[in-house]
Amino acid sequence: MPVLRTEAIALGRTDYSNSSQIITFYTRDYGKMHTLAKGFKRSSGRYSSKAVDLLTYYQILFIKKEHSSLHTLTEAVLQNNYPTLRNDLDKYYRASCVAELVKEFTEENDPCEPLFDIVINTLDGISTGTNTTIRLLAFEIKMLKVLGYLPEWGRCVNCKTGIREMTEVHFNAKEGGVLCKRCHVKYSNGIFVPAGAILIAERLADANFQKIERVNIQLSICVEIEKMLRYYIASILNKGLNSWKYLTVS
Ligand SMILES: [Zn+2]
Repeated sequence: MPVLRTEAIALGRTDYSNSSQIITFYTRDYGKMHTLAKGFKRSSGRYSSKAVDLLTYYQILFIKKEHSSLHTLTEAVLQNNYPTLRNDLDKYYRASCVAELVKEFTEENDPCEPLFDIVINTLDGISTGTNTTIRLLAFEIKMLKVLGYLPEWGRCVNCKTGIREMTEVHFNAKEGGVLCKRCHVKYSNGIFVPAGAILIAERLADANFQKIERVNIQLSICVEIEKMLRYYIASILNKGLNSWKYLTVS
């Protein structure tokens, strides 16, 4: 069986036996995958090839099993452990939210290199930057975009009226976008969202990572965007995320 190499972010870990664990990675070349890590222990030892920590970027070697979705991890070489995530709880929870979103939104054996790059850039940005709320919002929107879930924010999904011409904007997760006041009454559910929040959310989809550090968005707008994204994501996944319990927009 071939030994393969890829870049990987550790997303999750469960004990398998006293000396082994199942580690879930999101990888550049194979998408999400589960590996059995025998003899790998939790450790903070730097550059150790026998320790895997969560929310950490590795170069991994693994044996790919043809008839099983549990592959065998043979080596994990540390690339970046984002040290500031470990001593700042707010940053840690935001990074955990990134990991949970990737776990929930991706399938095994379904690689998406643009998403891998977005994850790496976001973890780096949350770890080293100050604008962590905006970085997480940008991540959520960019992830939705590369995975084909970006909602229609520009015009009413029913009558095609442009958002700038609307007197009141509603967002309907099931319909996948905004509805004008007139069309909104024909559909159930949906939430009111200020047009300004939607226009900024749309801009974040294409903002480059260097720019995000300098973007200044009012807290009230961040709160509205986050509310809309949580409602939309929960509607796609049919559930909320665990990490939301620990995260407030601030
Ligand atoms: Zn309409």
